[in-house]
Amino acid sequence: MTGESRSLSERGETRRRIVLATHNPHKVEEFQAIVAATRPDVEVIGYTGPEPIEDGVTFADNALIKARAAATHTGFPALADDSGICVDVLGGAPGVFSAYWAGHAKDAAANLRLLLDQLSDIRDPHRTAQFVSTIALVVPAADGEAAEHVVEGVWPGRLAVAASGVGGFGYDPIFIPDGQQPGYERTVGEWSPDEKNAASHRSRAFAALSPLLAQL
Ligand code: IMP
Repeated sequence: MTGESRSLSERGETRRRIVLATHNPHKVEEFQAIVAATRPDVEVIGYTGPEPIEDGVTFADNALIKARAAATHTGFPALADDSGICVDVLGGAPGVFSAYWAGHAKDAAANLRLLLDQLSDIRDPHRTAQFVSTIALVVPAADGEAAEHVVEGVWPGRLAVAASGVGGFGYDPIFIPDGQQPGYERTVGEWSPDEKNAASHRSRAFAALSPLLAQL
C-alpha cells in the first residue's frame, strides 16, 4: 500500500482502487492523467509484483496475461494495457513486437530507426499506421471465477519520414495523427502530454472501459 493510498483511506474517502499492471513509467503517468481527468473516483496504483512472461501473439492475449497476474498477486481489480504501432504496408507489424522491434534490448531509438529504414522507399499516401491500445480489466471474485473484460482503442495516422519532437516515448516522434490541419501537422513527439492524453489510443480504450469501471 502506498503512502498516498494510506492517507486517502485515513481521510475516509471512498475511491475505487485499481492496480495498473505495467512497469512502464510513461504508461503509468499517461493512465493516471487520463483517469484523473475522466474518473476522479478511481485511484490507480502501480503494480510492483512479479512480471509475467508476455508470450501472447495478440494485444488482448498479452493484456490479459498482465492483468491476471496483477489481480492474482494483489487481490485488487487490475488493469493492463498492451499496445503498439501497426503499419499497414507491413501487414500490421511491428504490432505486439513494437517494444523490441530492433531486438530484445528494447531500445526505443533503435526501434524507431529500424522502422524508418524499412519504410524508406514508401511514400505518402502509403505510410498509414495506427497506434493500438488493448486494455484488459480483471476483477477477482472472493468465490468463483474472476470477471475479465477487454477493450480496444485505435488512433489512426501515418508515419513521418524523419523523427521530430522530444515529447512522449517510443514511436511518438514519427507518428502524425490524422485530423490535423494540412500544412500544420505535427508528430506526437511535438504534442504536449495533455494533447496526447486527450486523443491517444490509450484514452480511446479507456473511454470504452469507463462503463465497465462504473459497474465495479
Ligand atoms: P508494451 O509495453 O508491451 O505494451 O509495448 C508497447 C510498445 O509499443 C512501447 O514500447 C512502444 O514501442 C510502443 N507504444 C505503445 N504506445 C505508445 C505510445 O503511446 N507512443 C509511442 N509508442 C508507443
